[in-house]
Amino acid sequence: MDSKKLAELLFPNITVTADELEEKYPPRNLPEGALVTRLGPSPTGFMHLGNLYGAFVDERLAHQSDGVFFLRIEDTDDKRYVEGAIDLIIDSLKFFDINFDEGVGKDGDQGDYGDYTQSHRGEIYGAFAKRLVEEGKAYPCFLTEDEIALIREKQEAAKINPGIYGEHALSRDLTYEQVEANIARGKPYAIRLKSDGNPDPEKAKRIHVVDAIRGELDMPENFQDTIILKGTGIPTYHFAHVVDDHLMRTTHVVRDESWLPSLPIHVELFEKLGWEPPIYCHTAQLMKIDENGNKRKLSKRKDPELSLEYYRKKGYHPASVREYLLTVLNSNFEEWRMENQDADINQFHFTTEKMSSSGALFDLDKLNDVSKDVMLRIPASEIYDFLKDWAEEVAPEYLPMFADRDYAEKILDLGRQDAKPRKDLVCAEQIVDFISYFFDDFYKSEDELPEEVSKEDAKTILENYLASYDHTDDQSAWFDKIRNIGEALGYAPKPKDYKKDPDSYKGHVGHVSTAIRIALMGRAQSPDVWTIQQIMGEDMTRRRIESALASL
Ligand code: GLU
Repeated sequence: MDSKKLAELLFPNITVTADELEEKYPPRNLPEGALVTRLGPSPTGFMHLGNLYGAFVDERLAHQSDGVFFLRIEDTDDKRYVEGAIDLIIDSLKFFDINFDEGVGKDGDQGDYGDYTQSHRGEIYGAFAKRLVEEGKAYPCFLTEDEIALIREKQEAAKINPGIYGEHALSRDLTYEQVEANIARGKPYAIRLKSDGNPDPEKAKRIHVVDAIRGELDMPENFQDTIILKGTGIPTYHFAHVVDDHLMRTTHVVRDESWLPSLPIHVELFEKLGWEPPIYCHTAQLMKIDENGNKRKLSKRKDPELSLEYYRKKGYHPASVREYLLTVLNSNFEEWRMENQDADINQFHFTTEKMSSSGALFDLDKLNDVSKDVMLRIPASEIYDFLKDWAEEVAPEYLPMFADRDYAEKILDLGRQDAKPRKDLVCAEQIVDFISYFFDDFYKSEDELPEEVSKEDAKTILENYLASYDHTDDQSAWFDKIRNIGEALGYAPKPKDYKKDPDSYKGHVGHVSTAIRIALMGRAQSPDVWTIQQIMGEDMTRRRIESALASL
């Protein structure tokens, strides 16, 4: 069969040649060691943690090496394009400080290696499919779905490998005239790779790929005549990946481990096209320990924390999420952080070798812990800006808390300058609750008096407290007064006195101050009361005690 003629028959409209395209997209002119990475999301309108996790690896590899990180939109599957999906991808990554150098942008493409949207690259895929047909490495397949199902049934009955390959690939040996006649009759067809692989596992060659995360992979070669262009002329993921990552000169392909089983197809495609494959980095699945203690994959349906929306809604600072992701991504990050507590996170040298290949465990408690440390390093003024933006976007009902910058910053900084600084701040949703008592409109009484303090005593304590209150008292003068008020009522001046001889006292000074704390803050636990009063001011302090008294 004259395969050149066949190629012309199949692709009469493709006039650009593979060679011309190679020339149009030459190897990049980058410094030695610079990596080129890409993110290839589908525009589904849903950004998940896996996207961020992968993007983070891409971004670090590229920017750490003065390379290029680009965005390619992979919209070739039949799923519907969701309006606004591209802005969502760009914005949600930008929020986490992940920025692209090239590719699809909000105002069109940027860079010399585009078009960066797969659905616009039909001619390019056509040119390379045409070349494969010309070289006898691909062919048109006219099998219908029913015929394919029948082949599969027979294969299952004969207990042999299912699929379209070797003698089961019934369109492989059609003559030019048969193809021509089929086309004339309008029979739909796909273009399949003509695989050289051997389906017999005994005789199959092995392929060896060094994955940057997993090390050497040893797999049987591909033997399936995989579809490269669907009936509609749209490429499959396999073909688009190989063509695009070659022409866009990607050096490192970071993708989810679910692509591992199709790696042999990609290796054969690269080989048949005569190209060097990129370095693959197959990342581990994101896992969690569920309510029953079982380790399982994070699921879109069951786990809201899989969606990036979740972190914006809860108001995790992007620096916290980045820091947390690095602890999951690189096993040596935490050690580095201990030694470099104030260093910029980008000074950490990220490596694929330190990535886990066996499932990255995601844990919200750990995120919260990491966030406490990260928030401590962020100045109150920045936290204020972040919270205000969050409130504007997600929870405008909290905006009144941010009307007075000075007041809010003092609140946010409470106890953070101490020798052993407080780490109270986790995420916006938790912070607005944590600081709510500083605002009359948000104050709520949450806790009961401790059992050591009767209602009568509470009344006396608050009355005496109010009567003796002097806003200019320093911390020790203030506390002496509380101790005196308590002692007069039969409360031990020190907790240890009470512990030693509980029968001689009603309780201790801590219980007395808890009664005051509840009146002031509505809760039994809070940072230092004296400091809180200094921030609240005298008016609010007195008002709170008065209204607590009125409700007793
Ligand atoms: N579009 C593919 C996905 O969303 C990208 C895989 C890749 O990065 O190669 O899973």
